[in-house]
Amino acid sequence: MVLVDLSTGEISRKPCPEHITRDYLGGRGLGDYILLKHLKKDVAPLDPENILIFAAGLLSGTKMITTGRLHVSARSPLTGLIGTSNSGGMFGSELKGCGILALVIVGKANKPVFINIRSEHVTIEDASTAWGLERKEAAAKLLELAGDEKARAAVIGPAGEKMVALASIMFGPGHACGRTGLGAVMGAKHLKGLVVRKTSSVAAATPAAAVPAVKDYLAKLKALPSWEQWTTLGSTDSVLWTHQMGGCAAKNHSQVTFAGAETASGSAFKDLIVKHRGCYNCPIRCKADIKIDRGRHTGFEGERGEYEPLATWGPKCGNADGLASVYLCNLCDDYGVDSIGAGNVVAFAIDLYERGILTPEDTGGLALTWGNTEAMEQLLQQITYRSTPLGDTLARGMREAARIIGRGAEQYAHLVKGLSMTFMDPRAFKASGLGYAVSNRGADFGYVYAKPEYAYTPQQALDAFGTAKAADRLSEEGKAAMVRQCMCANAVVDSLGICKIPQFGMLLDFNLEEAAKIVTAFTGQPVTGADLLLAGERIVNVERLFNFRFGATGRDDTLPEKFTTEPISEGPCQGSVINLAPMLQQFYALMGWEQDGTVSAAKIKQLGI
Ligand code: SF4
Repeated sequence: MVLVDLSTGEISRKPCPEHITRDYLGGRGLGDYILLKHLKKDVAPLDPENILIFAAGLLSGTKMITTGRLHVSARSPLTGLIGTSNSGGMFGSELKGCGILALVIVGKANKPVFINIRSEHVTIEDASTAWGLERKEAAAKLLELAGDEKARAAVIGPAGEKMVALASIMFGPGHACGRTGLGAVMGAKHLKGLVVRKTSSVAAATPAAAVPAVKDYLAKLKALPSWEQWTTLGSTDSVLWTHQMGGCAAKNHSQVTFAGAETASGSAFKDLIVKHRGCYNCPIRCKADIKIDRGRHTGFEGERGEYEPLATWGPKCGNADGLASVYLCNLCDDYGVDSIGAGNVVAFAIDLYERGILTPEDTGGLALTWGNTEAMEQLLQQITYRSTPLGDTLARGMREAARIIGRGAEQYAHLVKGLSMTFMDPRAFKASGLGYAVSNRGADFGYVYAKPEYAYTPQQALDAFGTAKAADRLSEEGKAAMVRQCMCANAVVDSLGICKIPQFGMLLDFNLEEAAKIVTAFTGQPVTGADLLLAGERIVNVERLFNFRFGATGRDDTLPEKFTTEPISEGPCQGSVINLAPMLQQFYALMGWEQDGTVSAAKIKQLGI
C-alpha cells in the first residue's frame, strides 16, 4: 500500500498484511477496513483528515477477464456515511501493475496537485494549469504534465473542484466512480487527479491453473443467450424493459410506465455506433462510441451511455428524446458529476416546478417542465458550477436541497440514507426495494443487484432461497434471503475487482462458485463460494459499523413513504405496494443483527472484525 499525505508531502509504503487480504480481499473490502480502523468520528467528509482510498481488487490487472475494476472509498460528502464507488476502465489494472494494491490519501495540498505513479515511483506534482478544466482537457493536461501520453488518468471536473456533493471521479469516457460524491473529497484536498503507468503486468500466482480456469469462465459466458445482447447493446435496452415490466421511475417516480422509454434504449440508436469499447482485458466490450446524425445534437460524438444514466435523464426527467439523454450523460462525464445523482436531482427539481413548489422566480425564469432538455442542460451547468441560487442548492444533494427548499419538497425527494434512488420502482421489484432500504450506501440497485428476483427460475429460487416465490418479483417471500446473499456476493466481486456484468448480469453466479474457482486458480489457495460469501458478509458488516459510527441507526433502513403506502395505479404491477417491515425483520434475523438493526456483538466476534 502507498500512503500519501498531501499536507506534508510525505509518501511512504507499507505492506498489506496477509490476513487483511484473506479477510477483506482488496478493492472495496480493503477500503472499508481502512476506513473503519482509522477514520475518527469527528472527521467531516470534506476535512483534510478524511481518508480517500483508491484500491485495486485482489484480481485486478491479472489475466482474468474483466479485471480492470477499481474501488474508491471515503466518508461520503453526500450521505455522511460510507462513500463507496466502483469504476471500470484501465486504472485498476495499471495501479496493480505498479505493485500497488491501495493508494491511501490524507491531508490537503496548499495548491492544486496530482499524484504521479510511475511504476514504483510516486510523486506529488503541481496541477495548477489543470485546475478549472473539464474531464477530457484535464486528463490530457495531466498526461502532458506527467510527460507520458500513454499513461492513464483519473480526474475530477469542475463539480469536484467546487465540492458539489454529487461530484464523480472520472477514469475515462463512461468510466466513473459516480455515486456518493467522492469527487468532492478530491476537490477538498486540492487533488485534481492521478496519473498511473505500470511497467509490468501482474503475474498470476498459479498461471498453470489460471489459464484453463479463465478459458472455462469465458466459454460459459459465450455459451449464454445473453452474450449477443451484452456485446452489442450493453445494458441499454433495460430502459425499455423496465417500462414493459411496469416498474420504472418515470417523472420522478410519479409513473411506472413512460411512452417514449424506447427512445432511451440502445436499440433505438444502434445504427449510430462508431465502435465498441471495453475495459482492461474484457472480451464483452459492452461500451460503445456513437455519432449522432439526427435531432438537436446532430454531429455530437461521444459515449453511448448505460442503463441507469440513460433512464434517469430520459423517462425519469419526462424526456422522450433518447439522444438528448445520451448528450446529457456525456455532459455529466465532462463536468465530473454523477450522471445518476445529477439526473435524479434535476428530475426532482422539475417535479417541484410542475407542482408549483418551485416558481419561475426560484429558477431564474428557467421553464423546468418535463422533457425540456434545454432547461435540463442549463440546470446541470448551474449545479456543476454552483452558479445560481437554485444550482447551489441542488449541488448539495437532494436531501439537503429538499430541506432548504421546504414547502413540502421533502415528499418528492426519493432517497434512502441521502442517496437518490436508481430506476426500478421498489413496489414492482421487491427484493430491489428491500435492497434500497438496507444498502449501506443508500438506494442503489448496484449495491445488491437483486437480479434473481426476475431472472431465476422457480426451481433455482427454491434451491437458493427456500421458496419458489422468490422468483416472483411481486412476492415478498424469500426476498430477505435473496438480498442477504446478493449483497454479500456484490461485496466480494467489488473486492476481487471483477466486473458485475459477467458475474451477475450474465452468469447469475450469486453463490460465487465460478468466482471461487477463479480465486483458487489465481491465488493457489483453495476457496469455496461459501468462503467468499463469508468475506462478503464481513465487508457488509464493516460498512454498517462505519455507518453507525457516523450516526446511522436501523431507522435509516427505510423507504420513502410513497412506496409503502401508495399502490401502483397502472400496468402489470397495478395495486402493488411494498410491505417493508416484515422483510426487514427477516433480513435482520438472517444477518444475525439485533431487532433494531444493530450489528450484534456476537456477529462482530464471529466475523473477527
Ligand atoms: S463488461 Fe463492460 S463494464 Fe464490464 S469490464 Fe467489460 S466493458 Fe467494462
